[in-house]
Amino acid sequence: MGAQGSGKGTQAERIGPQLKLVKVATGDLFRSAIAQQSELGLQVQSIIESGNLVPDELTNAIVQVRLAQIAANREKSDEVQGALFDGFPRTEAQARALDDILAAQGTKLDAVIEIDVPREKLITRLSGRRTCENCGAVYHVESDPPQVDGICDKCGGKLIQREDDKPDSIARRLALYDNQTRPLLDYYREKGILVTVDGDQNIDTVTAEILAALNERASA
Ligand code: AMP
Repeated sequence: MGAQGSGKGTQAERIGPQLKLVKVATGDLFRSAIAQQSELGLQVQSIIESGNLVPDELTNAIVQVRLAQIAANREKSDEVQGALFDGFPRTEAQARALDDILAAQGTKLDAVIEIDVPREKLITRLSGRRTCENCGAVYHVESDPPQVDGICDKCGGKLIQREDDKPDSIARRLALYDNQTRPLLDYYREKGILVTVDGDQNIDTVTAEILAALNERASA
């Protein structure tokens, strides 16, 4: 959990492989559906570009499908231990649906990590963010620029500013976080599974703190 720009995606990329957890990032799933121009992609494209939330039913449905695939892979391989959610759930209805989906699979959430970053920092991070249109790698014009301006170091793809990283959409997304998603922190705090990490530190320190908190919970 954490507002847009808090570093959820970056941390999920680092932590997932270390703990053998498959990342389930609803934003990435939607963006790839849009890139493929699938039926789902066509349904959600304008919603996402404006910075609004995709309806819960559509979002819950793609998560359910993805979790069924992960559960099947987990049976086949020791390399898959579970799932790591990024950008989901974002509403109370999604949180309740997730509890139900997991319960039906005989499992539950082990921990919820909140990455906390001051509002001014979020706006700077989001407005300078550039994303590879080919592989999805993320850069920042000031704090993490690519070697060649506008070109992805990893795949040579073109770097673009996501439509929803433009100023109007940023404001809308941060307001949505406050209104719809932040209340979920209380939901998870009451369940005793919320861990809050200071996200206004360098990337390695945040990763180390998240891993330490998860280890502490696993050995408790
Ligand atoms: P993200 O990459 O997580 O910032 O997601 C990009 C966009 O995808 C969001 O601004 C929403 O339009 C949509 N989206 C991603 N995850 C969700 C979700 N859990 N519920 C509703 N919409 C979502």
